[in-house]
Amino acid sequence: MKVFVTGGAGYVGSVCVEELLNAGHEVTVFDNLSEGHRPAVDPRASFVRGDLVSFEEVKKALAASRAEAVMHYAANALVGESVQNPSKYFRNNVANGINLLDAVRECGVKKIIFSSTCSTYGNPERVPITEDHSQRPLNPYGLSKMMFEQILKWYETVHGIKHVIFRYFNAAGCTAKYGEHHRIETHLIPNILMVALGKKPHVEIFGTDYDTPDGTCIRDYIHVVDLADAHIRALVRKESAVYNLGNGAGHSVRQALNISRKITGHEIPAVERPRRSGDASRLIASSHRATRDLGWMPKLPRIESIVESAWRWHRDHPEGYVE
Ligand code: UDP
Repeated sequence: MKVFVTGGAGYVGSVCVEELLNAGHEVTVFDNLSEGHRPAVDPRASFVRGDLVSFEEVKKALAASRAEAVMHYAANALVGESVQNPSKYFRNNVANGINLLDAVRECGVKKIIFSSTCSTYGNPERVPITEDHSQRPLNPYGLSKMMFEQILKWYETVHGIKHVIFRYFNAAGCTAKYGEHHRIETHLIPNILMVALGKKPHVEIFGTDYDTPDGTCIRDYIHVVDLADAHIRALVRKESAVYNLGNGAGHSVRQALNISRKITGHEIPAVERPRRSGDASRLIASSHRATRDLGWMPKLPRIESIVESAWRWHRDHPEGYVE
């Protein structure tokens, strides 16, 4: 199938592009390289440097790709930053996304697969979280993704464009070639590994007074290769749907740190800090719906495998992508 991938030079997008190509699909990547990296784009894909802020630019690229489906990864995705600068999140994740949807409509593409997030749920009333759980995001990032989910539903009702929405829990891990390189790194696992590489003196633990067994936040870390697998399975789904993607297992910040200490053999000093604004205490997925409908099961569910794969990539790419 011909697939148009926005954000295909970013972390999750780049791995999905690699897996799409391995599965025999034809891929056009559309990315403005504000967060993404040119070397993160698999050379087997076509690449268009373009920005979703321009309807004409995205429409031209989408028409030229002759895509039958769109995967939309392009977004700003930092909870902390979104609390400092909501405008950036609503513009890029919502307003610019509408340019993509209008291009999809005008080009007659009938299917869009969208990267959403467990941040749309806010602080859960129960875990594991199922897709019908109430959505009360705690931060502008989560709200921007929830708004786009709702917009997608109207584009189906009015224009007949089918969607598959994936609510990722905590994407982590790498392939041999493609990994996680943010220009400003705020995510837990890469920050831990940067300390192990000697690039930072210590890792910060944001909040030790949460209502969890060790006081630190619990997250469901899911391998990026497993996320890619779900997207590829969704290409053949006929009906619109929403799916959580996680392993159904939670690890606290301290647990992730201790596992990383064992894997890297580095002491990884940690400093306790106050809570980070916008963080939910415990996010764990129920992904039974994805298993039922898509036959999806994580192939690399153990957090040890996730951290090991990330550690390999970071050791091989100590400077990240070099452009
Ligand atoms: N975290 C931390 N130190 C860091 C980065 C993150 O203690 O250097 C915590 C963060 O507060 C959250 C968890 O680790 O509780 C996962 O954060 P991350 O930014 O990786 O993902 P998020 O859950 O925000 O999408």
